[in-house]
Amino acid sequence: MREQLMKMLESRKDEIIEIRRHLHENPELSFKEEKTAQYILDFYKGKDVEVQSNVGNGYGIVVTIKGEKSGKNIGLRADFDALPIVEETDVPFKSKNEGVMHACAHDGHTAYLLVLADCLIQLKEQLPGTIKIIHQHAEEVPPGGAKSIVESGILDDLDHVFGIHLLPLGPAGVVGYHAGYTFNGRAYMKVKIQGKGGHGSSPHMANDAIVAGAHFVTAAQTIISRRLSPFENGVITIGSFDGKGTFNVIKDSIELEGDIRYMSEETKGKMEREVKRIARGIEEEFGVTCELTYTNDYPPLYNDPELTDKVVSYLNSANDKDIKEVKEYPALSPSEDFAYYAEKFPSCFFFIACSPKGVEEPFFNHHPKFDIDEDALLVAAKAVGYVVCGLYELE
Ligand code: MN
Repeated sequence: MREQLMKMLESRKDEIIEIRRHLHENPELSFKEEKTAQYILDFYKGKDVEVQSNVGNGYGIVVTIKGEKSGKNIGLRADFDALPIVEETDVPFKSKNEGVMHACAHDGHTAYLLVLADCLIQLKEQLPGTIKIIHQHAEEVPPGGAKSIVESGILDDLDHVFGIHLLPLGPAGVVGYHAGYTFNGRAYMKVKIQGKGGHGSSPHMANDAIVAGAHFVTAAQTIISRRLSPFENGVITIGSFDGKGTFNVIKDSIELEGDIRYMSEETKGKMEREVKRIARGIEEEFGVTCELTYTNDYPPLYNDPELTDKVVSYLNSANDKDIKEVKEYPALSPSEDFAYYAEKFPSCFFFIACSPKGVEEPFFNHHPKFDIDEDALLVAAKAVGYVVCGLYELE
């Protein structure tokens, strides 16, 4: 079946590209992917599978491909939302939806998975288990779609979930992987500091919120430099400090917002505790009140090491002209809500390199000029196909 599947995928390479271009031209923002979801539903119309729409907290779709025999149950996930970015590429299939762009390659994820799913539907008599195709909405904006799809219970009978991300880490043909913690978890914080306003000349009669806020910003940096082990990964970025006022008036309150990232559950807890401690300290030190909102969003993404080993061995033994190299990469600092599947099931999320040909320094995902080498789409379909065949021990 393995060879049969690969031949089918090869013969449909142009169709994968066509679908990707259609999606690229018609991007929709997270939680608003109504037409994209309809397009996916239309694709499955008349096919012999069970399709469930509106899964989770948005337009999620789960397609169940029941094999003839029972065995392991596998989930394959691709996301389909786009970003609020004005596209700056010159591709002929540039976004028609001004201000919205598929700048994270989710168009490519969905395109390859649709065609792979269709091939698996045609071959389902040979499948010793059930495959659930997870077309996921809203990856880009917390709370995301993944958590709610997992919580819906629709995936409860799965053994593993697999997913890929197209990333410009190298030329098409390279498949990347990382075992263990692979993407950062993230938290959001907002701090409102309330002091007492006053005359610029008389600080002793007021309580300056700007000075207290500035100390908070500086102290927060010491969580990374003085509280985390040098071998532990964490990031604190305070991207917004709202203290606009008048030069000779002491500001009574300020508000700041920050982004926190961590690579393990342990670091997650430590960073939250330390941020709270610093907020309390600022209250004490400056006689202000700190109202802290702290929300943990996506957990760190953990790739099951044993399963990742298996994925690597399936890909290495594929001997496929389109998969030229299987390469280990370091962990990545962004976050991915695939982490929710990986939290519940031993899972593996790996990388498909897609740097455009002849470009030395490609634009990374989320850049208005982000582009991919579409040859990587067939690589994605085949790689995930090999994983399915490997896991089912299909020759
Ligand atoms: Mn993405």
